Amino acid sequence: MNNQSVECGCDEIPQSLLSTDQALTTLTNAAKVINATEFVALDEALGRILATNILSNINVPGFDNSAMDGYAIHLKKDQINTPGGISFEITGRIPAGTTGHELKPGCAARIFTGAPTPKGANTVIMQEECELIEGDSKIEIYRPINLNENIRPMGNDIKIDDIILKKGLKLKPQAIALAASIGIGQLEVFKKIKVGVFFTGDELVKPGDTLEPGQIYDSNRYALTALLKNLDCDIINLNHVQDTLDDTVKALALLQDKCDLIITTGGVSVGEEDHVKPAVEQLGKLDLWRIKMKPGKPLAFGQVGQSAFIGLPGNPVSAMVTFLLFARPFIKKIQGCSHYLNTNFKVAANFDWHRPKPRREFVRVQLNQSSIPAKADQYPKQGSDVLSSMVWADGFAEIPEKSVFKSGEMINFYPLNEMML
Ligand code: AMP
Ligand code: MG
Repeated sequence: MNNQSVECGCDEIPQSLLSTDQALTTLTNAAKVINATEFVALDEALGRILATNILSNINVPGFDNSAMDGYAIHLKKDQINTPGGISFEITGRIPAGTTGHELKPGCAARIFTGAPTPKGANTVIMQEECELIEGDSKIEIYRPINLNENIRPMGNDIKIDDIILKKGLKLKPQAIALAASIGIGQLEVFKKIKVGVFFTGDELVKPGDTLEPGQIYDSNRYALTALLKNLDCDIINLNHVQDTLDDTVKALALLQDKCDLIITTGGVSVGEEDHVKPAVEQLGKLDLWRIKMKPGKPLAFGQVGQSAFIGLPGNPVSAMVTFLLFARPFIKKIQGCSHYLNTNFKVAANFDWHRPKPRREFVRVQLNQSSIPAKADQYPKQGSDVLSSMVWADGFAEIPEKSVFKSGEMINFYPLNEMML
């Protein structure tokens, strides 16, 4: 790892720091896809990651069929595109789920949406354009008629041997429906990953209990477990662990062979009360990164036994932001997800950025979409302890290191609702 010193002539930071991009690349390069797979029924497949390509062995639709409720017609050659006023004798009725009989030239069959067009039928006219005449034994149509109107051809959606879904896809409702449409009842998916979590900080109190002077409520525990549930992980939660080296080592030892990943919050700096680094080093290996970003400078990454380890900062905003920007892509990659990186798009800053900062900032912003481009307004307090900013925000605006700009500058925006899926 090539840590680099920050020398930018602005807010100089004396430590060795890692850029946001380097940290993300190192993490995702280290993330190995778990190999274990299982079959799940379609009803259980939502949010799971597909472990194989899905090939179709049928055509969908499997037969030419009507796109409308109306009349299937055997149009004679000399009737094609002639001005209206042509009549057809009704000789059949074909509801969906049945097959009709062959239509002779000049004849029509009542047909319903999805029903197979019978042999001989070469066009379908919607019922609103057909008038029943002669005691309902015939229809008359008052407009020119073309061949192949309102006929959905066999294989219109899917052809035999088409790959309909690709390995690594996170299964959304539409993908599950598509699998169902080719008759597949089960899908092979990657097994859920197991994530062990615990939370450091002797000042923390469980919500519902009473605070003593100097204590605060534990919020990271709820943030992290909810974020992991969003990612469909199985969670082993040891809850709060005392701020001692011994207890931290014990917690790690308990989790190391049961988990694919261990995540902690807090205790990851290098103060006397921070035991995560030495504890991980006792059992495995650890890189402590001071990432050139705000919020969320300290981030630890390592290995304990069979498990990868990510130590998030303690401040609640830093913990969530670093989880979303670093842990989330890492987790998605080991889950087998092919699109594991966060997506962003450009918006216009609705604020000036006066001073060049040595760290990249991820500013909590709301988007005003009443103009094009959408404008980003920042929450007035951007401290890493101001959790309200996360609830207020639609996402993060990425402010590059050392930049200075006026309102209107185009910047990257990371939507929170997408990162919460
Ligand atoms: P630390 O990294 O342990 O020094 O923690 C940094 C800050 O985050 C301190 O103000 C902690 O009290 C706070 N903090 C740590 N863990 C949590 C938590 N689980 N919930 C809320 N705040 C926390
Ligand atoms: Mg602490």
